[in-house]
Amino acid sequence: MIYLKNLIGGELIEPSKKQYFDNFEPATGNVYSQIPDSDADDIQLAYQAAEKAFPEWSNTSLDFRFETMMKLVRLIEQNHKKLSEAESMDNGKPIKLAAKVDIPRAAQNFKFFANAITQFASESHNMPGEETINYTVRQPIGVVGCISPWNLPLYLFTWKIAPALAAGNTVIAKPSEVTPYTAYLLSELAIEAGFPKGVLNIVHGLGQKVGDAITRHPGIKAISFTGGTSTGKIISSIAAPMFKKLSLELGGKNPNIIFADANLDNAVRTSVLSSFANQGQICLCGSRIFIERSIYEDFKTSFIAKVNKLKVADPKDPESSLGAVVSKDHFEKVLSYIQLAKEEGGKILSGGNAVQLDGRCENGWFIEPTVIEGLEYNCRVQQEEIFGPVVTLTPFDTEEEALMMANSTEYGLAATIWTENINKAHRVAAKLQSGIVWINCWLVRDLRTPFGGVKNSGVGREGGFEALKFFTESKNICIKY
Ligand code: NAD
Repeated sequence: MIYLKNLIGGELIEPSKKQYFDNFEPATGNVYSQIPDSDADDIQLAYQAAEKAFPEWSNTSLDFRFETMMKLVRLIEQNHKKLSEAESMDNGKPIKLAAKVDIPRAAQNFKFFANAITQFASESHNMPGEETINYTVRQPIGVVGCISPWNLPLYLFTWKIAPALAAGNTVIAKPSEVTPYTAYLLSELAIEAGFPKGVLNIVHGLGQKVGDAITRHPGIKAISFTGGTSTGKIISSIAAPMFKKLSLELGGKNPNIIFADANLDNAVRTSVLSSFANQGQICLCGSRIFIERSIYEDFKTSFIAKVNKLKVADPKDPESSLGAVVSKDHFEKVLSYIQLAKEEGGKILSGGNAVQLDGRCENGWFIEPTVIEGLEYNCRVQQEEIFGPVVTLTPFDTEEEALMMANSTEYGLAATIWTENINKAHRVAAKLQSGIVWINCWLVRDLRTPFGGVKNSGVGREGGFEALKFFTESKNICIKY
């Protein structure tokens, strides 16, 4: 049995109360490691270490920060196989996805922000005729908190830590307790990379204890959070009255709009991915597919044919298209939405059931890729985030109707449009209530672009200089000469 440890003050240590809880492998349902059940005392220890490390780290040369972060990049790359296997085992995702997307992106996050900080400049405002000039400096905030979810564990954890460190902050980071293993392996690599003690602290445990202690700690001045909308509300209700800086990346229920003039082959092929990649557990997945009525049957036929070829299998199987969903609770939640879809009048076109595999995976949490039609756009299944391998197909007659249905949820994270008409593409993109719009593609990511949602999908933007701005305070200095 593996006992994970916290990284505090440059050392791997046990939680202060020496309590642990179980970590499950979703593909087998077995417990394979023990997670520190840390609490506010561990956060206080981490805070003391981070506070002590801040003056020196915030004054290190950009070269030193760059070099230290690049050492970590090389270590992640050297440990690619081990980290990919760990991510797949901990999360249930196919090994090929972890190896192709999650782990390379974790390295890329550090590489990107190690470089970005060397290009991060600030403004100067000259006042003509007044012999006065203003210049803005962007200073690191101090000790900052990073809280991340389970769906892309190391990918999203490093997406927060990298800009926070690059900007000169010291960090207390909490990975999801559902998928803590690669964050633990990252602790080992961070020590090897030579980050000064206390610069990066990783504390494991439950959201209600460790996440809550980070949120409430008066010395932690900024919190970058990715997770569910309801958790985001709790965090804001505590942190906003303390005037903390908050970046909240929350839930979604993304529309995928297919117009009759789309390139149908491309739209179908990519929609299979945007529906079921990572078992549909990507915040950017397009779970509501709206199809112009004249091509509805054609799209449906080729989409279902492709979905029926997807292989639900052991995540270790290199041929697996879908692995296990992340936990027993989540498995039950997703199945309950499939049941609700039937009660709401939906027709299951494909899937709809749990999958019982043989051998080592006989008790794993597997679900068939599920396609449903015949639901009203405003029913619960089409409005609430399911975050699993379940999509709905809904026909539309006009552009206005597609937009009305697409914009009808409380969320506004990402949207996809398929059309060969460039005017229509721009017109619809402008009217979508969404932080991100992809036209004739999906999940194409340039890390310099702003990333985040509108409405209940969040507040603030990550990515590029947006993230470096979040993790710094602007100060204007005005000089009369
Ligand atoms: P979650 O909100 O349950 O947990 C996220 C993190 O918050 C975990 O580390 C958890 O321990 C912690 N947490 C839980 N309660 C807390 C509390 N009271 N105070 C402080 N921290 C607390 O979310 P999840 O189930 O891990 O992730 C799935 C959700 O994340 C989905 O809603 C998904 O859409 C969303 N998500 C959003 C994005 C995005 O970029 N917008 C990306 C990925 C996932």
